[in-house]
Amino acid sequence: MNAYDELLARLKDIDLISQIGGLLGWDQEVMMPPKAAALRAEQISWISKTGHLKMTDSRIGELLGELETREDMNEVQAGNVRLARDSYDKATKLPTEFVGELAKHQSKSQISWTEARAKDDFSIFRDDLVKMVEMSRQKADYLGYEDLRYDALLDLYESGLTVARVDPLFAGLRKNVAPLVKAVVDSGKRPNMSFVEENKWGQSGQEALSHAVSETIGFDFTAGRRDASTHPFCGGSNPDDVRWTTRYSESDPFGSLYGSMHETGHGLYEQGRPRGLDFQPTGNANGLGVHESQSRLWENQVGRSREFCEWALPLWQESFPEFMEGVSAEDLWRAVNLVEPSLIRVEADEATYNLHIMIRYEVEKQLIAGEIEVDDLPQAWDDMYEEFLGIRAPNHTLGVLQDIHWSFGAFGYFPTYTLGNLYSAQLLEAARKVLPDHDEQMRRGEFGPLLAWMREHVHARGSILEPAALIEEATGSPPSPDAFVAYLRDKIERLYGVSA
Ligand code: ZN
Repeated sequence: MNAYDELLARLKDIDLISQIGGLLGWDQEVMMPPKAAALRAEQISWISKTGHLKMTDSRIGELLGELETREDMNEVQAGNVRLARDSYDKATKLPTEFVGELAKHQSKSQISWTEARAKDDFSIFRDDLVKMVEMSRQKADYLGYEDLRYDALLDLYESGLTVARVDPLFAGLRKNVAPLVKAVVDSGKRPNMSFVEENKWGQSGQEALSHAVSETIGFDFTAGRRDASTHPFCGGSNPDDVRWTTRYSESDPFGSLYGSMHETGHGLYEQGRPRGLDFQPTGNANGLGVHESQSRLWENQVGRSREFCEWALPLWQESFPEFMEGVSAEDLWRAVNLVEPSLIRVEADEATYNLHIMIRYEVEKQLIAGEIEVDDLPQAWDDMYEEFLGIRAPNHTLGVLQDIHWSFGAFGYFPTYTLGNLYSAQLLEAARKVLPDHDEQMRRGEFGPLLAWMREHVHARGSILEPAALIEEATGSPPSPDAFVAYLRDKIERLYGVSA
C-alpha cells in the first residue's frame, strides 16, 4: 500500500469511530433513559480516547512527513494531507488522559446543566462549569497560541480565527446594526402579534408544519430523522444518516418552524457532502461558519422573506385552520420578522441576534483570560444584556443558563454564528445573480434551484478549501459584512419604514 492509501485507510477508521460517538451523543440527547447517564459517560470517554489514540499514532506523522514532500497531488489529495496534518498536530498536543477526562466531564456537566436549567438553579451547574473553564484554559495552553489564550479555542471551530479578526467584525456590526435596532425601538411600531399571542399552539400541528416545510425544501427523510430535544441540534454520522431536533412551545409556533428550517439547513449541507469523498477529511462539511451559513440561509434569508410567507400561508392554514382565519401573508411576514430586544438567543430576530453573540463572545474572552471567574458570570451576563439590549433576565434559565455550549466546553464556538449570518447573505447575493427568478421561485415553493446552487458551490466542495477561500470561490469576493448589512437595512426599511 502506498503512503497516501495507507493514510486514507487510517483516517477512515478514525472517521468511523467519530461517527459512532456522534450516534451515542444523539442518543444521549434524544432517547437515553436517565439512569444510563454514568454508563454513557464511560462509553463516550472510551470512544473519544480510542479515536485520539489512533489519531496520535506516530505512523500518521511519518506518512504525513513523506506525503508533504510530494508535488504531484491534486486539490483533494492536498486537502486531505493539509486537514490530516491539522488534526494530527492538534491531537498530538493534547495528552490522551486529558482527552478522556475531558470527554467524561463533558457528559457529566451536560447533565448538571440540564438539571440546573430546568430548576433555574445556577449552583447545580457551578462546580462542573468551574472545572470546564479550567480544562478549557488548559486545553488552550496545550494547543498553543501567539497572542491570546482564547485564540487557540477560536481556531478549533474556524481555522485561523482570532480575537484580532473578530473584534473589528463585531465593531462593524455594532456601528451599522445597533442604530437600526434603536430606530425600530424608537419608532414604537410593533406588528400585530395578537393571532400569535392569543392562541395555544398544539404540538401536532407544529410537527406537521415543520415536517412538510423541511421535506419540501429538500431534506431527505429516508436518510435522516426529526426528533424533539431540549436544545435543538443537527447530528448523525454520514450523509445517509442525518438527524436533527427541534423543540415545541404552545405560546410560540415560530420557534419550532424556524428552528426546524435552521436545522434542516444544517441537514441539507450534511446530505449534500461529496459522496466520492466519504471517510476522507475533504468530504466533511467545512468550518462552523460555513455550516451556519446554510442554516441561516433557509431560516432567515428564505424563511423570513415575504415570498416564502406567501407560499407557506396555506400550510399554516392547514395545520391551524381556526387560528389563521383572517391572517394574510403580509400579517404573517410582519409577525415572523418582529424586531424586539429579547432574552433568548435562539429565538432572537435577525437584527438583534448578533448582539446576543457579541455578549457571549465578550464574556468568554474575559472568562478564558481569567479577567472574570464563574462566580461573576451570572452578574456579568445580566449587566451586558442591560447594556446592549436594554433588558435583564428575571431568572437564570432565561439568562446565563440558556445555552448548552459551555456545558461541553465549546468556548470559541459562538462567534461562528455571526460569521454564518454574514456568509449566508453573501452567498444568496451571489446565487441571485444566476437565479434572476429567485423571488418568484420562493413564492411558488420551488426551492430546488437555490438548493442546487448551494449543492454545487458549497456542499459538493466539502472541506477541500479553507473556509474563507471557499466563500471567495463561491461568491467572487472574500468574506465581508457588506451583503448582510445591506440586506438588513433594506428589510427594516420595508418592515418598519425606518433607516439609520
Ligand atoms: Zn446552527
